[in-house]
Amino acid sequence: MRVLLVEDDDLIGCGIEAGLRQAGFTVDWARDGHKAGLALDTTSYALVVLDLGLPRVSGMELLRRLRDAGKDVPVLVLTARGTVVDRVGGLEAGADDYLGKPFDLTELIARCRALLRRAQGRSVDVIRYRELSVNPAAQAVEVAGKRVSLTSREWAILMQLLTNQGIPQSRSRLEESLYGWQEEIESNAIEVHVSNLRKKLGAHLIRTVRNIGYVVEKE
Ligand code: CA
Repeated sequence: MRVLLVEDDDLIGCGIEAGLRQAGFTVDWARDGHKAGLALDTTSYALVVLDLGLPRVSGMELLRRLRDAGKDVPVLVLTARGTVVDRVGGLEAGADDYLGKPFDLTELIARCRALLRRAQGRSVDVIRYRELSVNPAAQAVEVAGKRVSLTSREWAILMQLLTNQGIPQSRSRLEESLYGWQEEIESNAIEVHVSNLRKKLGAHLIRTVRNIGYVVEKE
């Protein structure tokens, strides 16, 4: 799943970026509010981690614009200004959760997962689908109780399909969720990953939708 990180502090940003990557997310990192706005206009993200004190366009302004545009992507607001006024202001401007600096990276990741879970309408972290059991926190997949190991790309495709059951995902949509700004997209990569997923998880899990892409049917 692709996450937009908006943070102007290099040290903090590096830490969060590494933590999110480690947790299996694709991360785009915008260092100012203007660049973040452009990213949000052109890319669909599963989640935004947003610092409030930013150059060019403030985090609060960005958040307001996002919500005014009717976008409901979950936003975790991050700020050193952990006063009640800022916290309430952020939440009223449309933040879904709030974390004051300094924070623990494991707490940040846990909150990100909780927001994604909520956005997907799940109350528990483990996704069960037929004989499949998927634990995003542990990045673990089991088929009928047997552990299967996936590459990070396979994992990203599986999550994108499983969290959008019944909604066909186009190849470009899948590429978008898989590749960050700096990464080159290999041609036919999606087909190769899907084919590997079918070998590992069973031939019938992912259905090809002709001329569109792929889908995991609603259970
Ligand atoms: Ca800042």
